[in-house]
Amino acid sequence: MRTWGTKPFIMTKRLYYDSSELREFDSVVEDVSPSPPEQSRPAVILRETAFYPTSGGQVHDTGWLTLGGERVRVTEVADTEDGKVVHYLEAPAPPLVGTAVHGSIDPERRRDHMQQHTGQHVLSAAFIELYQMPTVSFHMGTSEAYCSIDLAVPSVSSEQIAAVEKRANQIVFENRPVRVRYVSRAEAERLGLRKLPPAERDELRLIEIADFDLSACGGTHVGASGQIGSILLRKTERVRQGTRVEFVCGGRAVRMARRDYSALSEAAALLSTQLWDVPEQIRKSAEDSKLMRKQKDDALDQLAELMALADLHAQPETNGRKIVVRAFSDRNISFAKLFAQKVTRAATPAIALVASTADPPGLVFAQSSQASQPDSTPDMGALLKQVLSAVGGRGGGSRDFAQGGVPAGSRINVEQLLREAAGTIGA
Ligand SMILES: [Zn+2]
Repeated sequence: MRTWGTKPFIMTKRLYYDSSELREFDSVVEDVSPSPPEQSRPAVILRETAFYPTSGGQVHDTGWLTLGGERVRVTEVADTEDGKVVHYLEAPAPPLVGTAVHGSIDPERRRDHMQQHTGQHVLSAAFIELYQMPTVSFHMGTSEAYCSIDLAVPSVSSEQIAAVEKRANQIVFENRPVRVRYVSRAEAERLGLRKLPPAERDELRLIEIADFDLSACGGTHVGASGQIGSILLRKTERVRQGTRVEFVCGGRAVRMARRDYSALSEAAALLSTQLWDVPEQIRKSAEDSKLMRKQKDDALDQLAELMALADLHAQPETNGRKIVVRAFSDRNISFAKLFAQKVTRAATPAIALVASTADPPGLVFAQSSQASQPDSTPDMGALLKQVLSAVGGRGGGSRDFAQGGVPAGSRINVEQLLREAAGTIGA
C-alpha cells in the first residue's frame, strides 16, 4: 500500500455528500504524490473535495484543479483505504502542501453519472416492487456504454422487462423528490431499507425517492426523479450470479436511441424498405438465400454428374475399369470430391484421381468399391500418402476414398502430384 506523507489520519471531507450539484469548490492541498514518487502518477489529496472517487459501482469524476497558478486536468479519482480521496493529475503539480486550490468538475460527465446512478435506484426498486427480484450488483459503463445490474434470479422474461421499464419511467415522469438523510444503523434497520450495507459504520447515508425507494448509498444522485430523463432497458443475459440487465438513462438513452435509429435506417435503405419492415425483409432474404443455396447445390450436383459421365465416356476401359484424371482450376475441393463420387458411382468400375488448384489446393483419390480387388487395385489412402509425404502435405483415407491437401499458400503444384499418382497406377 502507498504511504501518503506523515500527516495524521484525517479523512477527506466529501462535499458531494450534501450537494451533488456542486461543481466548483475551494480547498487546500493536504498532501502531494505518494512516495516513492518514481512509482506513482502525479496526484494530490485535498482537505475537502467535490470530486467523486470510483466506488459503489459509480465511475469517478474528471475535471480540473487550479493550484499555484496552473490549471491541471484531473484524470482519475480514487478512494484510499483510510478514507482519503486521491486526485490523479495529467501533469505533475508543484509540490505545494498548504496551497489554496480551486476545483472544477466536468459537469456533463457528472450529470451523466447522476442520471445513470439514480436511474439504477429506480430500476432496482421497480424490480423488487413488481417481481421481488433483488439487485446484487451494479456496473456503470463509460459514457458511450451500457450500465447494468445483476439480479439474483435465473431469468427475466421480455414481458417482465417491459413492465419494469414502464413502471420505472412512470416514477421518472412523476418527478418525485430524491432526498439525502443520515440515520443511525438502528434507525435504518427499523426503516426497512431495500439494501442495508455491511455493519461498518454507525451512521448511514440514505437516499430516498419519495414514497418509492429507500436505500443506503454514498453516490451522487439527481434532486428529483424527473432529472433521470428516461430509463431504457436493453439486453438481458445469464451470468454466474443470476441475470444481467443492461440499461441506459437520460442523455445516454437518447444517444443510444439515435445510434440504433441510424443503424436501422441504414439497414432499411439497403433493403429498400420501411424501418419497421426490416425484420420481415431480413426473414424473406434469409429464405431466398436458403432457396438459392439449395438450387446452387442441385446445379453443382448435376454439373458434377454430367462432367463425370463425359469423362468416363471419353476414357477407354482397361482391365475392366476406367481411370479418370482431372484437375480443376475454377472449382474448389468440395466440387472435386463431388466429381470423384460421381465417377466412382457410375455403372462402370472406375478410379478417379482429382485435384483442385483453387485455394486451398487439394487432392481426392477414389475408386468404385467393385473396382477394388485386393490383389490387383491400388490402395487410394496409401497412394495419396505416398505423393503427399514427399512434399509435406497432409491427408489420408481408406482403400476406396482418400482426401488431402498441401499447406495453404505453399508453392507446391498439386497438378504435378496428380500426374505422379496417375503414373504410379499406370494411367
Ligand atoms: Zn446511489
